[in-house]
Amino acid sequence: MKLIGLTGGIGSGKSTVARLLAERGWSVVDADQIAREIVEPGEPALAELVEAFGADILDEAGTLQRAELARRAFVDAEHTAKLNAITHPRIQERTQERFAEARVAGVEYCVYDMPLLVDNGLDRDMDEVLVVDVDVEERVRRLVAHRGLDEADARRRIAQQVPDEVRLAAATYVIDNNGVLEDLALQVDRVAAAIEKAE
Ligand code: ADP
Repeated sequence: MKLIGLTGGIGSGKSTVARLLAERGWSVVDADQIAREIVEPGEPALAELVEAFGADILDEAGTLQRAELARRAFVDAEHTAKLNAITHPRIQERTQERFAEARVAGVEYCVYDMPLLVDNGLDRDMDEVLVVDVDVEERVRRLVAHRGLDEADARRRIAQQVPDEVRLAAATYVIDNNGVLEDLALQVDRVAAAIEKAE
């Protein structure tokens, strides 16, 4: 199985590329989805979060209120480290399980859709690294226009991520998404075909 890391700054079109690759028949492991799964009701990580940050992080139905957790966890480095110590090992474990399941199922191309792939040094574990690249100003514009963020928030989130040049340096393929969606689809086709041909 070939493991293909897919990353890009927020608003770059990474989710759109993941969708196109899924339509091609490639499997997709979604890091954001796993991060949500491991704190669902009944999961051990959720009980540990309650112990660490208080029962008020849950709503009446026992579901995690992410905003409330963020308010309590991101106050300082110590609390953030506590949050990470609870969630990160579970996320890693679940991710490895998904890769193992894909291998057992005979999947040939498994995409790991991970916004912080390079930020967290996980690019080194991938066979290929696809980086979706868009100019910062265009990303801000799309985040404001399509995702309803206000401009300051969009810029703040972009600034929290690894700089574009660091992400690009880790790429084995760069997908330029400054153009229209039809262009993006053509490039995804081209890159996917190159990876399939390299087998
Ligand atoms: P990411 O997952 O990297 O944060 P998305 O795939 O959600 O980014 O894309 C951000 C927004 O920009 C979405 O609303 C998406 O539909 C839109 N978008 C993506 N590519 C293009 C493009 N080439 N032209 C215009 N809008 C785009």
